Amino acid sequence: MWYLVVTGSKIITTFTETEYLIAKRQQLGLGFEGIAGGVQIGNYCGCKPGNPVLLDDAEVDQHISTGCHWGNGYRTQAHTKVLNVLETLVQAAAIPHRKEEIITLPGLRGLLGTTEKRMDLVIEEPDLDKTMYIDVKRTNTLTKSNQSSLVTDDAVKLRRRAYNEMKKEKYGRYHAEAEYSGALLFPFCLDANGSFIPTDRLFNPGVDGRQAPLGKGLAPQAGLRAVFEDGKAPQVGQLEISVEEGMIQKLSRRVVADASVGGCKLLDATLSEDAATGLLVNQTYALIAANCILCSAQAAVQTIRRNVRRNTRFHL
Ligand SMILES: [Zn+2]
Repeated sequence: MWYLVVTGSKIITTFTETEYLIAKRQQLGLGFEGIAGGVQIGNYCGCKPGNPVLLDDAEVDQHISTGCHWGNGYRTQAHTKVLNVLETLVQAAAIPHRKEEIITLPGLRGLLGTTEKRMDLVIEEPDLDKTMYIDVKRTNTLTKSNQSSLVTDDAVKLRRRAYNEMKKEKYGRYHAEAEYSGALLFPFCLDANGSFIPTDRLFNPGVDGRQAPLGKGLAPQAGLRAVFEDGKAPQVGQLEISVEEGMIQKLSRRVVADASVGGCKLLDATLSEDAATGLLVNQTYALIAANCILCSAQAAVQTIRRNVRRNTRFHL
């Protein structure tokens, strides 16, 4: 269990030496050659027996970091850990919530060939007087599919596009269910290393053209209004902050705020409310990033190790 009272103590995440090296290479966009026996990884990955994945030079890093079936468990773990961080925050803020709630439309429940749909985190947002469907999604904006889809050298544009793609996917998957329950769908989108990108105020999945009729599709204004006062994202330097960051800040304020304004006052008495909020916000960002980076590294280590073991085994 994570902290429930903001004390200012540091959080510690441990990496093994190999995980640390792999993580560094991943964050810098360098390959894995020479690490963990990676030179012996062979010409194809063994994660799909009978249909081997070719690892030519151009594909190898991407497959190891994002595509490999053997790393899926760790990537799922990253998702789970981000969700746990959010749940802890919601819990400490005393907001009624349910985790992994089944939201399949009633008419489709239990039907043959229907997979149940689950929402990561369902909260009863007191300010909005509304249910919010929070669904966590990570993507790796460095993958080829994200990189080649837009001819630009503008890193912000490129990441924004990748984030919008995630929102489109979440909209396609859950909008009918959210509409049915009158809930606000709130995709919680992250890069593979746990970083955020300013929310696109115009992009609305589910609506043709960028100018959205109010309340239709997945209106970005609804998400902005849910977390920011007057629905406007504050600027940090040149960039606006994202709805994801806004959500973390809003929840953190509730955790430390005075009970007279509906807060939970879970802070060390030596800290001011502002200082405690800042600490909690930054620790939450750091914890999300650390979990994402660690699990991404573990996924790559797993792929390399299993391939090396497979290729160096003595064959008769
Ligand atoms: Zn593989």
